[in-house]
Amino acid sequence: MTSSANKPSRTLLSRLLTPLVQWVDSDHCPDGAEKMRNEPDRVDWVRVMPFVFLHAGCLGVIWVGASSFAVWSAVALYFIRMFAVTGVHHRYFSHKTYSTSRFGQFLLAIFAGTTVQRGSLWWAYHHRHHHKHSDEAEDAHSPHVHGFWWSHIGWITSRRNFPTDYSKIKDLAKYPELVLLNRFDLVVPILFATSIFGLGQLLAAYAPGLGTNGWQMLVWGFFISTTFLFHGTGCINSMAHLMGRRRFKTSDDSRNSAILAFITLGEGWHNNHHRYQSSTRNGFYWWEIDPTYYGLKLLSLTGFIHGLKPVPASILEEGAHADHHASVVAAQKSAIAHPHYTSLRRAMPTAAAIAVATATASPAAMPQRKVDPAVHKDVTELAHELKAKTSDNPPAI
Ligand SMILES: [Zn+2]
Ligand SMILES: [Zn+2]
Repeated sequence: MTSSANKPSRTLLSRLLTPLVQWVDSDHCPDGAEKMRNEPDRVDWVRVMPFVFLHAGCLGVIWVGASSFAVWSAVALYFIRMFAVTGVHHRYFSHKTYSTSRFGQFLLAIFAGTTVQRGSLWWAYHHRHHHKHSDEAEDAHSPHVHGFWWSHIGWITSRRNFPTDYSKIKDLAKYPELVLLNRFDLVVPILFATSIFGLGQLLAAYAPGLGTNGWQMLVWGFFISTTFLFHGTGCINSMAHLMGRRRFKTSDDSRNSAILAFITLGEGWHNNHHRYQSSTRNGFYWWEIDPTYYGLKLLSLTGFIHGLKPVPASILEEGAHADHHASVVAAQKSAIAHPHYTSLRRAMPTAAAIAVATATASPAAMPQRKVDPAVHKDVTELAHELKAKTSDNPPAI
């Protein structure tokens, strides 16, 4: 009697405490990660409080003010850490477009941890899933399926998207040091923020002429810079499937955009990337500026990384003969749904207008999904699919 009477309160307490424990331990899933991943999308407000705090911290500028040093530090830390997002989270852990030593990849994972975009393994798991189901119902952040705001920011607040499915990234999960960093993914950001604060305090003491201090550096160098970094990265999930031109006939609606490439150090050449994911460079031609690739090329000269993968000549040849309108038609032939353009128009009028203008520039009545354009898949993804053949789930096309 007492036991059953206490049970609901314990359950409630457990439910309240679980998100708090998950702030520290991302792998903590009392009911099992699989069950959590199968839940419907819904925002976990307690769990996302650190993310809300990150944005709220920007308001600290009201009290700390600004100095040239702090502002330029924020800009520099944005681009340095965007390089970590694109060059490490994406082009190393997600696609293995170059190689490094085991210790080297550990250092890269710490570097990428300063971006405050959870762990590299979480990032890679979700990103590989995106490529496998681009603009389909299962795609966690397709603007065509979920609308602009969900693809930009909402999806990472959803309970079902918190757990990392290590079984889908076995090539990475075999390294316990990477799993540890992924599991306790707040450690590196806290150390990073503390270091910035400490630097500011040192500058206040030893270089007072710069007019900065620990709190001001914390607000500009961490909170503001990291918030911009998040939204810059988020633009690839939201805008890069809406805005820009299509060169390749991929089965999704990925786009190439010079504006997005500038914001994200080369990730804006997203249609190129969806066509061929294993290349270290996303800008396939000399005029497609890809600073991440240039940075990785420089890094390879030191020997720290090696084996950068080129774009095959056959892909470059294919790209030379492709045209935007034919590629838009190919996207329309695929299973991409477009009803969310209406809500997008309300949410982001300019982007939606560009997207609609380009999407409707081709003939309207097209046969439904007869052709599956050739889409390159990573070695890592193909390896996973071979394993999947032995499981209950058939491999995705
Ligand atoms: Zn994409
Ligand atoms: Zn990718």
